[in-house]
Amino acid sequence: MKSKNRISVIMTAMLLLVFLPYNMAQDKLPKVVILATGGTIAGAGESSTGSAYTSGQVKIDHMIDAVPNIRKLADLRGEQLSNVGSQDMSIKIWIKLANRINELLAGDVDGIVITHGTDTQEETAFFLNLIVKSDKPVVLTGSMRPSTALSADGPLNMYNAVAVAANPDSKGRGVMIVMNDEILSAHAAKKMITTPVQTFQSPQKGLLGTAIFGQVTFFHYPFGLHTTKSEFSVDGVKKLPRVDIVYGCADMSPDLIPMLVKAGAKGIVIAGVGDGNMTEATLKAAKKATSKGIVVVRASRVPIGTVLLHGEVNDAEYGTVSSMDLNPQKARVLLMLALLKDRSREELQDLFLNY
Ligand code: GLU
Repeated sequence: MKSKNRISVIMTAMLLLVFLPYNMAQDKLPKVVILATGGTIAGAGESSTGSAYTSGQVKIDHMIDAVPNIRKLADLRGEQLSNVGSQDMSIKIWIKLANRINELLAGDVDGIVITHGTDTQEETAFFLNLIVKSDKPVVLTGSMRPSTALSADGPLNMYNAVAVAANPDSKGRGVMIVMNDEILSAHAAKKMITTPVQTFQSPQKGLLGTAIFGQVTFFHYPFGLHTTKSEFSVDGVKKLPRVDIVYGCADMSPDLIPMLVKAGAKGIVIAGVGDGNMTEATLKAAKKATSKGIVVVRASRVPIGTVLLHGEVNDAEYGTVSSMDLNPQKARVLLMLALLKDRSREELQDLFLNY
């Protein structure tokens, strides 16, 4: 062999020796895709101690690069699906997100992380919990402090979310929210406090587990049917039937109910007082709406607890449905999906008992 050829053979062998173990290690890591939608986790402000900032400013590749050692947890790549504060999360983005997740999980991807603002994160999580057709882990995360803030919580939340998505024990637990070292189910997670980092809580049903510096421990499986057991689908669907939420209070006026029906609502969720109660006048308006085929669901403005079926309100008499333990915003998600098909009041009530 000529000496020039010998040198090139030796160099190729050396390159293989250097890069082969790296590639083999990458092959062994679970494949996780981060779908970025925006939110405070991608937010930026002028000052590290000021409260003013704008959501959805930083792109996903920069966010991944800002988290030390995250690439050691998974063979990771990011996709930017949207970049909005979650107050602007829409049904259009939900459908796009669900279709992309189903496509990725039907292939060789082992888990999904979604970065998302916290304002409506529990709604997106619950929607995906009903629409994702896979038992592979789907994890939402976000942050309460923007990326430019002192003690930004986004990087560690993202690290822990990837650790959960890459963990084989996470399979079959439905869609999850991972924030502030905790793993919560899409069914039970509620945003409980406006700005501190412990915003997501699961007061009645408890945590699914914890994720602390990437160490994942599970305690429970979630309540309710989800993912592979869910009957809902948005295949070929572009929009969902309109469902509005009406907030209850003392001396509540019934006026909004006929106004919403006139505006095209197919369903109305009433965030009632106490056990899903409302003024006599509102109950009468609800009965009138249900007699016209509009679905009225009784939920509660109280953050914790179950709205009892036939409690102070006889649901059969008024034609109403109880949200059971779904809060008004999640009851709306379930009702929008349920209304894609004709269902009787009893069938709708069964959905609220089972999901
Ligand atoms: N409005 C922001 C959002 O939901 C704030 C909440 C957050 O991301 O923490 O995107």
